[in-house]
Amino acid sequence: MTPQDIIKIKQLLAAPKQIVIVTHKNPDGDAMGSTLGLYHYLKKYNHQTTVITPNEFPDFLKWMPGENSILKYDSETNVCNELINSADIIFTLDFNEFHRTGHMEKVLEHSKALKILIDHHQAPGSYAQYAFSDVTMSSTCEMVYHFIDMLGDIGVIDVDIATCLYVGIMTDTGSFRFPCTTSATHKIIANLIDKGANNAKIHNDVYDTNSYERLQLLGCALTNLKVIPELRTAYISLSQEELNKYNYKKGDTEGVVNYGLSLENIIFAVIFIEDKQEGIIKISLRSKGNFSVNDFSRAHFHGGGHINAAGGRSDLSLDDTIKKFISILPAYSNALNYE
Ligand code: 5GP
Ligand code: MN
Repeated sequence: MTPQDIIKIKQLLAAPKQIVIVTHKNPDGDAMGSTLGLYHYLKKYNHQTTVITPNEFPDFLKWMPGENSILKYDSETNVCNELINSADIIFTLDFNEFHRTGHMEKVLEHSKALKILIDHHQAPGSYAQYAFSDVTMSSTCEMVYHFIDMLGDIGVIDVDIATCLYVGIMTDTGSFRFPCTTSATHKIIANLIDKGANNAKIHNDVYDTNSYERLQLLGCALTNLKVIPELRTAYISLSQEELNKYNYKKGDTEGVVNYGLSLENIIFAVIFIEDKQEGIIKISLRSKGNFSVNDFSRAHFHGGGHINAAGGRSDLSLDDTIKKFISILPAYSNALNYE
């Protein structure tokens, strides 16, 4: 995003507009934090602003300021279509291509609104008139902070904006421990705390509100953990039956894939989660170092993301998906055994 772009965006936002903010399907902390952070910012300038998520978001984010104003496309499709079709500006946050929004893909494609993309995923699409894309950023929330900064409005950040942006930076950096965490990230976090973000409470609300069943499901996942030491790989599977047994709710498996990476000498961790309703296996992939799970997922599992964190899916059965995975792995032996 050039300084000229910023000047033009500032001019655009000088008068109240109809604005829609969208994010990816199965929104996570960064998707929710960035959209709601931007929402609170735009409200300050009296824009008519609506956040639309493709579907429901996890319970552990249902305390975030503004979350009760969010429209969910899958259950409020008509009103969402009207808002998208009449929007002057659509901000697309924390995703790179319209297909990441699931059933919203077509209406977004056809919309005449001006699009502004803010995102840190690889390979951003070319649909946006203004794109702020940077794969070195820890999170889209960090980018929204920079965006507000570029607009000269750090002084406008209040406790609601600060709280929302804090959430996404915290979740996408694994609580400030992944390599994408820089000194700039910490400086922004410090500023957000100064603006009123209650760091201890936010951490508690996101991470320490587990149900007993969620912990039991984690126990089941860890029991299912398999290790292939010679390929420095660990993987977990969860069948629909197992999810049902522990009364699975959206978000319950968030972060579980990371346990594989906590094993000594393991640099590649994957979780396969059966979704009978959608008829797919949802896959999450994580790595350490140079092994690109973005490339791996793009090549074999219709997905993508970042070097060290990506998603994907398979249309095979759970067993066959795992068999496919195991059969592919040896081809990556050199990449996995780097030192
Ligand atoms: P998760 O495993 O948490 O679903 O996804 C990990 C990261 O990869 C997140 O940043 C997510 O947005 C991204 N991601 C997940 N699925 C896809 C996909 O199909 N395509 C792309 N480009 N990114 C994905
Ligand atoms: Mn993100």
